[in-house]
Amino acid sequence: MKVLNFGSLNYDYVYSLDHILVPGETIASSKMEVFCGGKGLNQSIALARAGVSVFHAGMVGEDGETLLNMCKQNGVNTELIKVVPGKSGHTIIQVDKDGQNCILLYGGSNRCLTKEYVDEVLSHFEKGDLIVLQNEINCLDYIIDKAYEKEMTIVLNPSPFDDALKSCDLSKVSIFLLNEIEGEQITGGKDPEEILRTLQDKFPKAKIVLTLGSNGSVYQDQDCQYRQGIFKVKAVDTTAAGDTFTGYFIASILQEKPVPEALKLAAKASAIAVSREGAVPSIPTLDEVMTCSI
Ligand code: ATP
Repeated sequence: MKVLNFGSLNYDYVYSLDHILVPGETIASSKMEVFCGGKGLNQSIALARAGVSVFHAGMVGEDGETLLNMCKQNGVNTELIKVVPGKSGHTIIQVDKDGQNCILLYGGSNRCLTKEYVDEVLSHFEKGDLIVLQNEINCLDYIIDKAYEKEMTIVLNPSPFDDALKSCDLSKVSIFLLNEIEGEQITGGKDPEEILRTLQDKFPKAKIVLTLGSNGSVYQDQDCQYRQGIFKVKAVDTTAAGDTFTGYFIASILQEKPVPEALKLAAKASAIAVSREGAVPSIPTLDEVMTCSI
């Protein structure tokens, strides 16, 4: 069985500032760093570090070599990633002296997907293969329809939540992984129980994993519900906690671990990610997760 992650690849430009800019203002940044990111890339790397052989599909611009190299260095297969004219997707992140941030997202090549490209990518996959998706690329509705037609298993992290998700037929999704905010936005539910109940009523055949930040996570399907607490760590940077959780939960399910064990491994991996700085650098390898004594 093959695993495809069809998702975004971004450069994150992180600027340190005294305070976040207000309209009309110009201030100097004391530090600037560039990282590889995007929910797609983060989740591919989390899957690969968790031991899954994963194909990434998506588009980078002419400046995309570092993104491709980052995937390759981590064992992610990049043969299906297309290089297109123009700029890769990127974010401009301002971080103030108190650690507050604001993020400007430019979709760039992540929003240049065409139906022809989607068809070409999916022609390499068949019934029973698994596809992982987030909401940082265009054509998401088309990808879901075509993957479903091929009888692939569809995993969706509906993040970030926006109107594009409203045109997707979410009844075709087999596994949802989402946080509480996305759960609220999709269902209008006010607490985890209401969110889970509403999602399960809407999508009775789906398996749902709701992550609750420092309150842990809950898995639910038609037959059962499992809860998992967090592994206590000193929180340094929660960026990519959700992406690490997604990669490790899906990897564990693919490795046929029982759901409670998959939740536990994902919680441990994401706690390690929370205890370290950055996105990609914070995602642990399976070895680190197995040997870490938190
Ligand atoms: P992000 O967008 O920051 O990547 P998210 O909002 O998608 O994350 P969360 O629900 O915040 O996802 O976190 C995912 C998982 O990470 C949680 O279910 C939990 O297991 C783990 N986690 C989050 N915060 C902490 C923390 N402070 N300490 C330990 N584990 C944490």
